[in-house]
Amino acid sequence: MDFAFSKEQLMLISSLRDMGKREKFAELAAQIDARAEFPHHLMEKFAAMDLLGMTLSPEYGGSGEPSLTAILAIEELAKFSPMIAAPVFESNVGPVRVIDLFGTPEQKKRIIPGVCQGKLSVSVCMTEPESGSDLTALNTVAEDKGDHFLVNGRKAFITGGGAASHYMVYTRFGEVKGYKGIGALILEKGMPGFTFGKQEEYMGLRGMPSCALYFDNVKVPKENLVVPAGDFGKLMLTFDIERCGNAAMCLGIAGGALDAAKAYAQSRTAFGRPICEFQDISFSIVNMAMKLDAAKLLVYRAANNAGQGLPSIYEASLGKLFANEMVREVTDLAMQVFGGYGYSRDYPIERMARDARAWGVAGGTLQMLRLTIASMLFGRRFDQRK
Ligand SMILES: Cc1cc2nc3c(=O)[nH]c(=O)nc-3n(C[C@H](O)[C@H](O)[C@H](O)COP(=O)(O)OP(=O)(O)OC[C@H]3O[C@@H](n4cnc5c(N)ncnc54)[C@H](O)[C@@H]3O)c2cc1C
Repeated sequence: MDFAFSKEQLMLISSLRDMGKREKFAELAAQIDARAEFPHHLMEKFAAMDLLGMTLSPEYGGSGEPSLTAILAIEELAKFSPMIAAPVFESNVGPVRVIDLFGTPEQKKRIIPGVCQGKLSVSVCMTEPESGSDLTALNTVAEDKGDHFLVNGRKAFITGGGAASHYMVYTRFGEVKGYKGIGALILEKGMPGFTFGKQEEYMGLRGMPSCALYFDNVKVPKENLVVPAGDFGKLMLTFDIERCGNAAMCLGIAGGALDAAKAYAQSRTAFGRPICEFQDISFSIVNMAMKLDAAKLLVYRAANNAGQGLPSIYEASLGKLFANEMVREVTDLAMQVFGGYGYSRDYPIERMARDARAWGVAGGTLQMLRLTIASMLFGRRFDQRK
């Protein structure tokens, strides 16, 4: 088994680390959280560095890189803040991958170059007020009206809501119940009848645009159909790439917390000694490093085995589940190492702990991931319906 990154991947990691120092990303992360303002100015910078759309098809402006390269970039930037990593996440492992894999040449031409240039972005719209984990019960409906679809429904908690230019909307086509009736359409900001709710106030991920979407008789041209009813499986398979990205955010946040806790344990003194000399503190740091490294191996395996394509459901689910739990434990341990300062807004740890909570809900909850993994281990479906 080869555990080595390529020379290019190592160079990318080191250049992002240097950029973080040079551009004062640690300070920017605190500012984003305090003001709840997304760092839109980074889009242009990241586009110039070819960080946006690096996994997308070269013929449409991407770089055709394997998913692992994007995962490493997301992790490195999320050490500062998931908000700083977000443009790299959305443009490489987000729903634009569905367009790259299954869209028509016209859709690709219309959207992918803009995503790579940081001018366009695509949000994934699955969750509804009445169906989150129970995704296949969704109620948004697209009626076939001959030359267009008429879309009605509501979505909840949509990351990028209000800010993104395009929305990959999971919808039911006609009357067919369950997953067989579900496919996906692209809706564009500004389409008549398509409106946004108020921005969410989350405990963490402050600054991340997120809101409900309302579709009231939205006329969507037929050429915006990406995945027809019957191909729901394609959507879920592609979503596993996004799950690797979600896990990479956890690796980054935990890595940032570990670095901060290590530095603090060497500089803070108690009883006349640096606190790292107390075994309980140094062993806490060891546990953080051990859990983070184990999560890295699972996430890198899933991303590496995906190559330029799709990861295995088992590997992606296992990686996300482990990383989601790990980041909560690691940020909690870091907070304890920092004592009272860990609980203070003047230090970054409480922000990291707040940001850490989101990932085990977004992209599928811990429980739903366990259910997926159990189905694969037992080789059978566990129907949750009454
Ligand atoms: C920060 C953030 C970003 C998000 N971004 C997006 C986005 O961009 N696009 C999007 O579509 N959605 C997004 N979501 C929504 C997210 O996908 C849903 O919140 C999630 O799928 C859970 O759905 P729910 O909130 O309706 O909870 P519910 O489905 O109501 O679940 C409530 C609780 O019950 C548990 N539960 C439910 N069913 C079972 C079962 N059968 N067995 C055991 N436990 C069960 C769940 O695990 C959970 O703990 C985001 C959410 C957050 C917090």
